Amino acid sequence: MNDIQKNLSEVQGKIKKACVRNKKIMRDAGDVNLVAVSKKQPIDRIHAMLKTGHRLYGENRVQEAKERWSDLRPQYPDLTLHLIGPLQTNKVKDAVELFDVIETLDRPKLAKALSVEMDKQGKSLPCFIQVNTGAEDQKAGIAPGELPEFLKLCHDLRLNIIGLMCIPPVDAPPALHFAFLNKLAAQNNLKELSMGMSSDFEKAVPLGATYVRVGSALFGERPTI
Ligand SMILES: *Cc1c(COP(=O)(O)O)cnc(C)c1O
Repeated sequence: MNDIQKNLSEVQGKIKKACVRNKKIMRDAGDVNLVAVSKKQPIDRIHAMLKTGHRLYGENRVQEAKERWSDLRPQYPDLTLHLIGPLQTNKVKDAVELFDVIETLDRPKLAKALSVEMDKQGKSLPCFIQVNTGAEDQKAGIAPGELPEFLKLCHDLRLNIIGLMCIPPVDAPPALHFAFLNKLAAQNNLKELSMGMSSDFEKAVPLGATYVRVGSALFGERPTI
């Protein structure tokens, strides 16, 4: 087994374990989708991951993802690509062409641009609304209090909103934010929850994550250059 295979089995094992409490299975591990975050990773690590059969990947930059996955895609027709990073409106066309799911719908202007572009391309990509659960000034996302109104806008724009996504503040206990996001999703009748990264996905799973976004725990540390 190579490192990537080993990391994948370990992360999958931890997800399974996080579904169990006091020997009781609280969740079906099959309901927790593992998004392998391949951003900035060397291509050989991605090839190794593809070799395991894993087909769900996340990228945070449209341009980088395009350079890397446009060539790979045709070889892997069952691939699913999630956009997990901020999306500028001038990149919406490329994003809708390349990605299968947009996780970072975070403002009205983007909702409108996505709606127009999806109509043009005849697509209806599933989207997550990114929620700024920590009300951080520097962080993207819809304020929790503005979620109902934003959802209404998305509905009027005929966007296919499947759930909520969050990135907790670095200095706060993530579980509070995961529980909060879960509550917001329930209040708004949304099924999917994208939350948890390498450092905290085991906390996100018992709190209802249906997608965890894991990078370094699968691929190793991202090269800094
Ligand atoms: C990079 C990134 C991740 C993965 O981070 P790791 O700590 O490497 O698991 C998850 N979500 C988002 C939004 C990211 O940008």
